[in-house]
Amino acid sequence: MSLKIYNTMSGKKERFEPLQPNSVTMYVCGPTVYNLAHIGNARPVVVFDTLYRLLQCHYDEVTYARNITDVDDKIIAAAREGSRSIESVTEEFTQKYREDMAQLNALPPTIEPHATHNIAPMIALTEKLLAKGHAYVSEGHVLFAVESMPDYGKLSGRSLDDMLAGARVEVADYKRHPGDFVLWKPAADEDPGWDSPWGRGRPGWHLECSAMIREHLGETIDIHGGGRDLIFPHHENEVAQSRCAHGGDYVRYWMHNAYLDIDGEKMSKSLGNFRTVRELLQSYRGEVLRFALLSAHYRSPLNFSAELLEQAEATLGSLYSTLRQVEDIPLDMEVQLAGEPFYEALNDDLNTPLAIAEIHALAKQLHKAPEDEKPALKGRILAAGNLLGILEQHPQDWLQGDLDSSDITAEEIEQAIADRQAAKAAKDYAKADEIRQDLLARGIVLEDSREGTKWKRA
Ligand SMILES: [Zn+2]
Repeated sequence: MSLKIYNTMSGKKERFEPLQPNSVTMYVCGPTVYNLAHIGNARPVVVFDTLYRLLQCHYDEVTYARNITDVDDKIIAAAREGSRSIESVTEEFTQKYREDMAQLNALPPTIEPHATHNIAPMIALTEKLLAKGHAYVSEGHVLFAVESMPDYGKLSGRSLDDMLAGARVEVADYKRHPGDFVLWKPAADEDPGWDSPWGRGRPGWHLECSAMIREHLGETIDIHGGGRDLIFPHHENEVAQSRCAHGGDYVRYWMHNAYLDIDGEKMSKSLGNFRTVRELLQSYRGEVLRFALLSAHYRSPLNFSAELLEQAEATLGSLYSTLRQVEDIPLDMEVQLAGEPFYEALNDDLNTPLAIAEIHALAKQLHKAPEDEKPALKGRILAAGNLLGILEQHPQDWLQGDLDSSDITAEEIEQAIADRQAAKAAKDYAKADEIRQDLLARGIVLEDSREGTKWKRA
C-alpha cells in the first residue's frame, strides 16, 4: 500500500517515493528555546510524530531530525530580561520542551541538531553562496540576493512584487532589494557571536535549517515539515539558500499543517488566549491533548476549545472502557496492516479523523463479536492506537486515573463496591443505589458487567 502526501510545492497530493529505496529523511523545524511551547507549537510535533510512526511501517530506516534554535534575538532578550545567561535560558526551555512533547506521546526525533553546534557549516554555506554570486556583504551583514534566483517565491507562490506589498519583509538601507534576507549578521560585544570572515557575528534563522539539513541529512531530503506560517519567509528562504548553494532538489515533499485557533480566535499574546502545553497539562492528560490535535486533518484549521478537549477525553474514555472489557482475553498482535481501513486512511495524506472513525468502527465490532474473534479485533484496535500514539496505557490506569488529587482512595472505592454488592444480595436496592450515587457525587462511575463491577473516574 503506498503512501500519498500533499506536497505544498506542487499543490497536489502525490505518491510518496523516497530518494533511497528503503530509507527516509525527514526534517521538521523545531522550537526557538526562550519560552514554553504553546499548543499551536504542539500541532506540528504531533502531526509529524504520527507521520514518523507511519513511515516506520513502510521503511526500515527513517531519520527524523527536529532542530533546536538556541541562538536568536528573542533568546537574548529573554536572558537580559531575567538577568540570566543565554545558556541557562536555552537549557531550561530545551528540557521543558522535551518533557512537554513526551507528555503528548511524541517520540523523540532521531536527531536533534542545535544551531550553536553547527556554526561552521553555516559559515561554509554562506561562503558558498557568496562565491556563487547569490549573496553580498553589506555593513557587516551577509545578505542573500533574492533577484539572483529566477524562481524565488515558488514554494509560497509569491512574486517579488507580492512580497513587497505584503510588507513582511524588513526594509533596511544595507539591502539592495527589500526582499533580501540576512544570512549572517554582526553581533554586539555583549551578545553571543562567532568569528567569521565577516567579523564576529551570528547566523540568520533561515540559514540554520539549510545548513543543519545539509550537515546531518544531506543535500536532498525527502520530507520537510512545519506549520503553514513557516512557508514564507522561512521555508522559501531555506529553498533559496540550499538550491542556490548545492543545486538539485533540496526537499522532495513539503508538508505544512494548518493553523490552530483558540475558541474560534487566532491565538495571540495580545488576545491573552495563549495556551501553553504545560498549562493545559494541569487540567488534561497529554493523550487527551494529542487526541484533540489529531481529531482534525492536519491541513484543516483546528478550533481548540474546552469542548473539543472534553469530547476527546470522553472518546478516549469510551475506547479504554472497551479495551478494559477485553483485558483478560489474549492479544493477537499479528495484525496485517495492508488492507486495514485505519492504515489506508493514514496512508491517504495522514487522514487522522478517518483513522479515528475506523477505530470506533472496530470498537463497535468488538462489542458484538463472538469470543473467538475478539483477540484479533483487540489487536487491530491497539495497532491503530500505536500508529496514532494513543491507547497505549493500561486501560485500568487510564480509567481510574490518578487519585492523588481526589478525596477518595482506591481502597475506599473497593469497600463501597463490596458494600453495594452486599446490599444487592440482601435485596436492599435503595441502599445499593445510594452507594452508587454517593460515589458518583465523588466523581467515581461504576460499570457493572458479568465479570463484576469495575470503576472509573468520571
Ligand atoms: Zn526551519
